[in-house]
Amino acid sequence: PIPAPPALRTPLTSPQSHRIQRDPPHPPRPQRRPPGYLAPLLPTTAPHTPEPFSQIQPDISAHIMPGLTHWQHPNFMAFFPATTSYPSMLAELYSAAFTAPAFNWLCSPAVTELETVVLDWVAQMLGLPEEFLSKGEGGGVIQGTASEAIAVCMVAARERMLGRMLEREGLKEGTEEWEERKGELRGRLVALGSEQAHSSTQKGAIVAGTREVLERCKREGKVPYYLTVSLGTTSTCAVDAFEEIAGVLKEWPDVWVHVDAAYAGAALVLPEYQHLTKAFVHFDSFDMNMHKWLLTNFDASCLFVRRRHDLTSALSITPSYLRNTFSDSGLVTDYRDWQIPLGRRFRALKIWFVLRSYGIDGLQSYIRNHIELGELFHSLVKGRPDLFSVLTGPAFALTVITVVPKRPQQMRNASKPDPRHEAFTNDFTPDAEKQALFDANAVTKEVYELVNSRGEIFITSGVVNGTYAIRIVSANANTEEKYIRRAFEILVETAEEVLGKGEA
Ligand code: PLP
Repeated sequence: PIPAPPALRTPLTSPQSHRIQRDPPHPPRPQRRPPGYLAPLLPTTAPHTPEPFSQIQPDISAHIMPGLTHWQHPNFMAFFPATTSYPSMLAELYSAAFTAPAFNWLCSPAVTELETVVLDWVAQMLGLPEEFLSKGEGGGVIQGTASEAIAVCMVAARERMLGRMLEREGLKEGTEEWEERKGELRGRLVALGSEQAHSSTQKGAIVAGTREVLERCKREGKVPYYLTVSLGTTSTCAVDAFEEIAGVLKEWPDVWVHVDAAYAGAALVLPEYQHLTKAFVHFDSFDMNMHKWLLTNFDASCLFVRRRHDLTSALSITPSYLRNTFSDSGLVTDYRDWQIPLGRRFRALKIWFVLRSYGIDGLQSYIRNHIELGELFHSLVKGRPDLFSVLTGPAFALTVITVVPKRPQQMRNASKPDPRHEAFTNDFTPDAEKQALFDANAVTKEVYELVNSRGEIFITSGVVNGTYAIRIVSANANTEEKYIRRAFEILVETAEEVLGKGEA
C-alpha cells in the first residue's frame, strides 16, 4: 500500500499502485519542440524492408517522448486529467489482440455482453436511478467521448420530438406527408444548453433563465427539443440545480434533458455526492468519462439512457448485409444502434479490469484523496489573500483563482491590453470597477503565462463571467501533496515577481 500524505485524512488503500515510482524525466509539456519539429527527424518514406523492434524502440525515447505532453506527469494540473492505470493498459492489450469491430452482438457476443454488465455496474456504483439500468427500459453504452454522447442524444431527441409532433398532427409514419412535414418542422427545433460560466451560487438565476428561454422559444414559434445540464462545468466545475430544473421542465415533457457529467461524474462514486443523482429520474440521459478521473485510459465515455428505445429508433438502420437471425430475434443488443459509427472497440474490458482491480472502495479512496488535495490547495491560496483570490472552488478537485493586483494602475503599463479584456468590460460597468477588472485580468494572465512558459508545471486558464482566471486541478493519478505544495510555491514566486516588477 502507498503511504498516505501526512496532512491528509484518507489513506489511499488501493492495493494496486497506479502511481509512477520516481519523478519523471520529462517536464509535463514539450520543451524546445517547435511546430514541425518531428518530420525532419524521420525518413520521408516508410521503409521498404522490415526493421527490427530494437531499431524502432529507441526512436520512441529519442523523438516521441520529448514531444509528448505528459498527461500522467504529477505536475500536469491543466484542463481535466486523462488518467490511466496498469489494469486499464493490460485490458487494452487484450482488446488490441482480440481486435474486432464488434458492431453487432453476432460480431463478438462477449464484447456486447460484457459492456451491458459493466455499464450496469457503473450505473449502480454512481448511484444512478434504477431506470438507467438494462433490466428495465434503460441501459448504458460506451461512446468515445462526452461530445459524441451529446451528439447521439441530440439526434435521438430530435427524432423523438419530430415523431411526437407528427403523431399529434395525425400523420402516419413512412408516408410522403410525414417526411415532407418533418422537413418543415425540423427548422423550428432548437437545442439549449445552460450557461457554462455560471457558478453554483447563481442557481436561482439559472432556473429562472431556463424558464425564460423556454417561454421565449414558445413566443417565437420555436420548439425546444433538447437541453444539456451540467454536473461539473469545464471552467469551474459548477453544478446545475437539477431538482429545480426538473420542476420547470414538468411543463415541457417533450424536451430531452441530458446530464453532462464528463469529468465530475466520477465523484458520484462517493456516497456523499450521490444525492445529486436523485433528480436524474426526470431526465433522459447521463454521461461521464471513465477516461478522465477514473483510471481508465482514453476512450471510455459511459452514456446511460432512461429509454434505450429512444436511441435505437433514431439510430437503427438495417441494410440486408447486417441482418442476422440473432438481431431479428430481438433477444440481443446491437450497440451499433446506440451510436453514430458502425464499428466499435472492446472498451468494456478496461472498465471491467479497473473496477475489479481497485474495487469501489479503492476508487472511493482515490477520488477522496484528490478532493482533499484540492482542499489543501484551496487552503494554501486562502492563506495568501495579498496575492490571490479564489474565484470558485474547491469543487471536485478544481480551484479557480485570480491574482490580486497590488496597485490598480500598475498593470496598465506592464502589459498591452488583451482585446478580449475589452469585451469583459461593458459600458454599464463603472470606470473604477472596469479598471480593477482590467488590472486583475492582466496580472493574472501574466502570471499564468510566465508559469507555463517556465514549464515545471502545466496549468490552464479560463474566462469566467469576464474574469480571467487560473484553474488548478489536483486530480492527476500521480499527484501527491508535495506536487500540490510545489505548484503553489511556483504560483507564489511568480505572482510576487510579477507584482514586484510593477513596484520597481
Ligand atoms: N463536458 C464537460 C463538462 C467537459 O469538461 C468536457 C471536457 O473536458 C467535455 C464535455 C468534452 O469531453 P470529451 O472530450 O469527452 O468530448
